[in-house]
Amino acid sequence: MSLREKLKALEELQQIDLELGEVRGRLGTLPARKAKVDGGLAAAKKGYDDERAKLDANERERRQIESLLGMERDKVKKWEGRLGEIRTPREYAALSREIDIAKKSNDTQSEQVKTLAAAAVELARTLEEKAGALSEAEMAAQGELAELDKARAADEEKIAALEARRAEAAKLVDPGLLAKYENIKKRRAGIAVATVVGMTCKGCHRNIPPQLAISLQRANSVETCPNCNRIIYSAEALNPPAASPA
Ligand SMILES: [Zn+2]
Repeated sequence: MSLREKLKALEELQQIDLELGEVRGRLGTLPARKAKVDGGLAAAKKGYDDERAKLDANERERRQIESLLGMERDKVKKWEGRLGEIRTPREYAALSREIDIAKKSNDTQSEQVKTLAAAAVELARTLEEKAGALSEAEMAAQGELAELDKARAADEEKIAALEARRAEAAKLVDPGLLAKYENIKKRRAGIAVATVVGMTCKGCHRNIPPQLAISLQRANSVETCPNCNRIIYSAEALNPPAASPA
């Protein structure tokens, strides 16, 4: 295998690895995107639950007061019935006073029930809004999660296809060169091979020495960039315009 062919195989491998990196990167953002959707839904659910709890507490308190009020009113009725049987003015005055106190207290409790009932109307209105927001959030989340699932399935498929292509491409790369490639790729943010255009390395955008540029034109040895240490090749030497199928 000529050096040109070896470098071409490496270039192909680099291309596949870049695509793989891109798809894997996108796939890696999915859990966070899913968590965001789940978080939005949980917030809407909490908004509804909190309002529901407030309304429930209001209703409990109202029922409790109403039940006590019923008993107190019965008591007052009994006392009022007893007034007619009382013979001494002193006892009459005493019971009358008790009745007045109990009635005032009952009025206060009755006002409290009205206040709670008015608050319940407001709470029920807010609860209805929260229920609407929750069902909207549920629908939106359902759609978004379905989209994310679809995206994940598509990316997993792409990865499987790219990995198969990579295995084939790696077979064509000289083992020594492959090891060098993997090593540089790890240290250079996934890009181990760079073209040189004119005298500029496209990996680090710095110029290489003229002598090196000339040797790249001949394409008969594997060279690395003195600045970024990536494997470099001359794009025109590797793919001469005449040889490329138009
Ligand atoms: Zn470089």
